[in-house]
Amino acid sequence: MTKEITYREHLVPLSRPELVERLRAALKPKRFAHVLRVEQTALKLAQQNGVDLELASIAALCHDYAKQRPDTDFIRVIKDRQLDPALLNYGNAIWHGVVGAELVESELGIHDQRILDAIRQHTVGAAYMTKLAQVIYMADYLEPHRDFPGVDRARHLTKRSLGAGVALQTLQTLTYLLEKQLPVYPGTLTTYNAWVPKYRKELSSDDK
Ligand code: GDP
Ligand code: FE
Ligand code: FE
Repeated sequence: MTKEITYREHLVPLSRPELVERLRAALKPKRFAHVLRVEQTALKLAQQNGVDLELASIAALCHDYAKQRPDTDFIRVIKDRQLDPALLNYGNAIWHGVVGAELVESELGIHDQRILDAIRQHTVGAAYMTKLAQVIYMADYLEPHRDFPGVDRARHLTKRSLGAGVALQTLQTLTYLLEKQLPVYPGTLTTYNAWVPKYRKELSSDDK
């Protein structure tokens, strides 16, 4: 059942239905549907982990806001805002979160740093992540249409421990990137080092 919460905290200058319309306009239908599923998954994880539902809803709806923007938009933001020039060596996969958060702030008027950090970190994670950021990172990975080797294991482990879920996603993503010989963003390695050794026991003892 779809859960629709009412925004009461004025974290965004829009009602939830207005924010949903902004996302519908920014994204193709398939990506928009993904965003709505991520919101529902994030609300469940937020409830289970004591995270504010309004923060979870807003961050989830906005996490892929910039996903379908042309590369030139991201390059302009990296230069104008003097973000790390090393970002220019990557592409949309990294930019839509790390750089996309800047577009969420300037275009949607969301200035709450907890929300912006959760969006920034949703693809590559970070050494220190709030529970909200962990919820968004996992909801994106586990929404009901995700179907990849290891997704059920990740769903089960995340139900038991949100942090262990973060560690497992990070391990599985890094393993995938190495197997495909894709470039690894340094932030992904930072996340690996902060989370995976810490949850070694949980990662080795759960059923595979
Ligand atoms: P989506 O936006 O809902 O499709 O999901 P994500 O934002 O989590 O991920 C986008 C893509 O980025 C996925 O295919 C990840 O495998 C990929 N990705 C995550 N970390 C890295 C990285 O360090 N390097 C590269 N090249 N890709 C990454
Ligand atoms: Fe994404
Ligand atoms: Fe996503």
